[in-house]
This record gives sequence, structure tokens and C-alpha cells, in this order.
Amino acid sequence: MTEPFDDKRLDELVDLIVQLASGNLSARLAPSPARDSVDAVITGINLLAEELDLMYQNLEHRVAERTAALDQARRDMERLALNDGLTGLANRTLLADRIGQAIARAERGERPPCVLLLDLDEFKNINDGLGHGAGDRVLVEVAHRLSSVVRNTDTVARLGGDEFAILMPGTTEEGALRIAQRALAELQKPFELGDRAVWAGASIGVCFGQRGQTADLLLRDADTAMYAAKARGRGNVQVFRAEMHHAARERLQVASELGVAVAQGQLRLHYQPIVELATGTIVAVEAMVRWMHPQRGLLLPVDFIPVAEDSGHIVELGHWVLQTAIGQLSNWRETVPESFQVHVNLAPVEVRWPGLDEFISTTLQQHAVAPNRLALEVSETGLMTGDIAGLDALQTLRRLGVSVEIDDFGTGYSSISYLRRLPIDTVKIDQSLISEFATDGDQTAFVGAMFRLIDSLGLRTVAEGVETATQMEQLLALGCRYGQGIFFGEPRPAGDMTQVLSARPIPARST
Ligand code: C2E
Ligand code: MG
Ligand code: MG
Repeated sequence: MTEPFDDKRLDELVDLIVQLASGNLSARLAPSPARDSVDAVITGINLLAEELDLMYQNLEHRVAERTAALDQARRDMERLALNDGLTGLANRTLLADRIGQAIARAERGERPPCVLLLDLDEFKNINDGLGHGAGDRVLVEVAHRLSSVVRNTDTVARLGGDEFAILMPGTTEEGALRIAQRALAELQKPFELGDRAVWAGASIGVCFGQRGQTADLLLRDADTAMYAAKARGRGNVQVFRAEMHHAARERLQVASELGVAVAQGQLRLHYQPIVELATGTIVAVEAMVRWMHPQRGLLLPVDFIPVAEDSGHIVELGHWVLQTAIGQLSNWRETVPESFQVHVNLAPVEVRWPGLDEFISTTLQQHAVAPNRLALEVSETGLMTGDIAGLDALQTLRRLGVSVEIDDFGTGYSSISYLRRLPIDTVKIDQSLISEFATDGDQTAFVGAMFRLIDSLGLRTVAEGVETATQMEQLLALGCRYGQGIFFGEPRPAGDMTQVLSARPIPARST
């Protein structure tokens, strides 16, 4: 039997404890064959070491897991802070950062960057009419299409809502305009949403960066150019020029003045005759709004209707137009026959305004005017976005007995088969189709075919923008029954129109 105090296993035990304490958790001591109480201590310490080792490994594993999760979260945060959640494109922050870098490179002699700012023309109609789900799908598809037209050194970003941007570092003006045209062409193609197609279209502002400029200023100027593109009738590209700031300020001014224009009685209605071509009989008038501006004089719709649409003033303006036009028709009671109609233009926003049918039926009742004496004109692009809310509203108006007419047909996505599904009774052919009659035989044949197709759907046709006797005769020969244009009379104030209407007795419409 070994004396406990000179047992060398005790020294080995001390060594083991020192090793374990210093972190070497794999250190172990083999028990001796003696299997005495010292061996029992050795085995006990081995077991504790084993346990400790396992616990440590476990802990380390969990720490590694946690670190990885934190890392991922940090990367997600970074991505979220720099990318748009819906489309995965760069966001405004990332774009501004890249613009800053590109301008810095321009300081060192590289060509300055160019920014395209794109805004969808019909997105509001799609989103309000078909719901946000449909709107989101269009935005994601827009992101794909834009990404497909750029190089991988370019950045495509979504700035929010339906606003997108493309940054092209070091490009020429020619190159930038080529990309802008390609982007425009991509966005003019239809977007398929299940069984329906919608059109979004876009307006694009182009701006080149300058040395010393900030990203914010470059984006602001591109935005100003985009507004100039929208004001030119949408669906086009404008390169920034300094004088555009003036126009942008003017738009703001117009928006703020429009509010008081209605209240202070600055709006006027002019009326243009709509004529039965075969007899020259005036069968209806179209009401066109004008703004007698205290400083700027008489303004035409192009100067304020787009601003009214964007700023929401259009609903109030539209109410005034409806009230005035219906009231005027009531005043003409003794002058015009029973079938005589007044036509009023409606913007898509007005069509979707929930109280429209009630407003119209109350106004008609107030003036004791029968619903079939009112015709509402809605432009083709306003309807062709496949806007369900808009179509429902038109259906309701038709049930009231009001006529609904599609305006400017032939300028947008004219689809004859789509006409069948619209709740309308008249199609107004745009003046651009008629103006080319004299010079283009093919155009004449095309319009003739259009008249026959529209006729086969049981719809009436009115040609607008008739300026000459020749055009009128061609229209008659092609089977068009009604026309409107300066050849028959310009839009004029109610007083003048009253004289025209009372000058000769007007025979009743032959249909
Ligand atoms: P629109 O409904 O297509 O009206 C026809 C436009 O063509 C009118 O311009 C009219 O003055 C003009 N025009 C008439 N005859 C001829 C012609 O022989 N040749 C040519 N080149 N042009 C002719 P206006 O009055 O400037 O109106 C422009 C547009 O503004 C209208 O187009 C309509 O979409 C809109 N608008 C007019 N009044 C209202 C309104 O009260 N509410 C709304 N929402 N829009 C309106
Ligand atoms: Mg019209
Ligand atoms: Mg028109």
C-alpha cells in the first residue's frame, strides 16, 4: 500500500487541476489499477472535466449561432436602409450616395453623371381603380423592365410611390436619351394583371450633374424636368433647363389660386356646337371651361386642368361645370328642342368620386332637366386603364339615363373590342385622325373602317376638330353622322351661343 503523502498520483492530480483551470478542458488523468480512494478522486475530477468541456462546447456553439444571427440582422438592416422593400431596387439613400460618388469622380475629370427621373402617368388610376395589390404588381414589373434597359454600372432606384430613377455615371447626352426612350417604350407596353391588361405609361425628366452639385439638387432638377414632361401631355422625355424652375413655381401658384377661382366666380363656360352633318342642325353643345384669371387673362384648360387633377381641385371645379352647364340648358328651354343635349367633360378622378351620381341626379332635378339631356365625355386614356371603379361609376350614371361618351378616341390604346365592354353610347373621334384626311389616303380608309366597326357595335360617332368643308364632306361620305369643330363654330360664351341657337329654328334630331 502506498503512503498517501509520497503518492506521485497526487502530484499528477495537482497538474491536472492546474491544466483544467488554465482552460485545457480536454486534459484527463488515467486512474491506476489500484482503484483506491485517490483513483476515485481522479475519476470524479475526470467526470467533472468532461461535464465542463461539454458545457463549454455547448456555450461556444450558442455564441457562434447568436453571432451569425446578429450578423444577418445587421446585413438585413443595411439592405433595408438602402433598398426598396417592394421591388428590391436601390432606395433614395443609396441612390443619393452613388450620385455623390459619381459627382466626386467628375471632380477628378470623369464625365458627369446623368439622372433620369420617371413617374408613371396612370398609376393613380390603376391603384385606386384596381386596388393596391394590382398597384404593387405593376411597380414590381416596372422595376424589372427598367432593370432590363440599363447596364450593370447604372443604378435603378425607386424613390417612393410610383417614382423611379436611373443613374448613369459618365454617359453622353445621346446615350442618356437613348436609354430614356427605351425605358419609355418598355413602360408603354401593357401590364398583364390576370385576365386584364392595364397601361401605366411614364413621363421622364433628364438631368446632367455638374461639378460641385449635390445629389439633392440633381434630383430636384430631374424632378422639375419630369414635371415639364408631364405638362407637355405625358408620355414624353424632357431634358432639364434652368427656366423650367419658373414653370414649376407657376404650377404651384396655379394650384393655390385655383381654390379661390371657383369661390370668386372666375370660371367661365364656353359652348361649342355639335352638328348633324347631313342637315347642319345643331343637336348639342359641348361645355368647355375657361378661367378668367384676374392678372393673366383668359386661360385655356391646358393651363389649369392638369394642375386641378393633380391637386384635387378638379372635383370642386367639375361640380361648378356640371351645375353651370345644366343650369344653362335649363335657361335654353324655350330656345332648343326636347332632344338637345349639353356635353360635359369629366376627368378620371371626377368619374371615380363616390358622390358623382347623386350630385348629378340632384342637380338635374333642381333644374328640372331630364337625364337624357346630359352627355358626359370621358377621355379614352382615362377609361382604358381597366379601371373597375370608374367603369362601375359610368354604369351607374348610364342607369340614371345620362349619356356617356368616350372622348379623343384614337389617341391612346384604341381597341375596338374594348369599346364593346364599355358602358357608353357615343364615340368621339380625335381631331388628330381627321386633320390628316387631306394628305393621307390610308388614314381616310382607316378612319372609314373605324366608323363601320363602331357603327356595328350600335354606337354613335362624332368627329371632332372639323375645320374645313372638305373634311366635312369626307366624313359624310365615310358614314359619320355628327361633327364638331371650328368649321361649325368655335366654343363661345353662353350669351353668344344663345344668339346662334335662336337665330334659326332648330329642327329636332332625326333619330
Ligand atoms: P376636348 O373635350 O377634346 O375638347 C376639344 C378641344 O378642341 C377644345 O379645346 C376645343 O376648343 C378644341 N377645338 C374645337 N374645335 C376645334 C377645331 O376645329 N380644331 C382644333 N384644332 N381644335 C378645336 P379646349 O377648350 O382647349 O379644351 C381642351 C381639353 O380640356 C378638352 O378636350 C377637354 O378634355 C378638357 N376640358 C375642357 N373643359 C373641361 C371641363 O370642364 N372639365 C374637364 N375635366 N376637362 C375639360
Ligand atoms: Mg370633350
Ligand atoms: Mg376631344
